[in-house]
Amino acid sequence: MAETRICIICGTEITRGSFSRKPERTACSRRCAGSLPKLSGKNRKWKNTELGGGRWKIGGYIAVAKSMLDDYEIELAGNSKLHYVLEHRLVMAKKIERRIETGEVVRHLNGDKADNRPENLVLGSHQENTLDHVSLRNELSLWKNIALTLLMILSSKND
Ligand SMILES: [Zn+2]
Repeated sequence: MAETRICIICGTEITRGSFSRKPERTACSRRCAGSLPKLSGKNRKWKNTELGGGRWKIGGYIAVAKSMLDDYEIELAGNSKLHYVLEHRLVMAKKIERRIETGEVVRHLNGDKADNRPENLVLGSHQENTLDHVSLRNELSLWKNIALTLLMILSSKND
């Protein structure tokens, strides 16, 4: 019996006797298959990047295939030629009910690039984004110093 699916990239209906790929990786053509998000370099493995339902993890961020979006979401996503959108930018666009401009950056408050809960996202500039990383690094080195101090105290007691 033939099965009908939708190309995850362009949305075209495909009817085939059987599909070799999972629904979230089904593409109508070689061209569309080439547009599926991938990682580059040695980590180029599908199984590490696929989240199912037309979602992928790319460089720590979550990307969603445009064919999974409704009309309003596509409008918010803007007219980039990419066939997928970064989920955190889309979540923010929905939150503020407008498109995210090119210079604007959506930041993850807890530093987890895959945590796209609206409350974990803030809109900022590239500059602020850099500051976040710096303060996180400072915080980490602070904890490292505390840990080292504790170790020194503990080891001196044993002497
Ligand atoms: Zn297609």
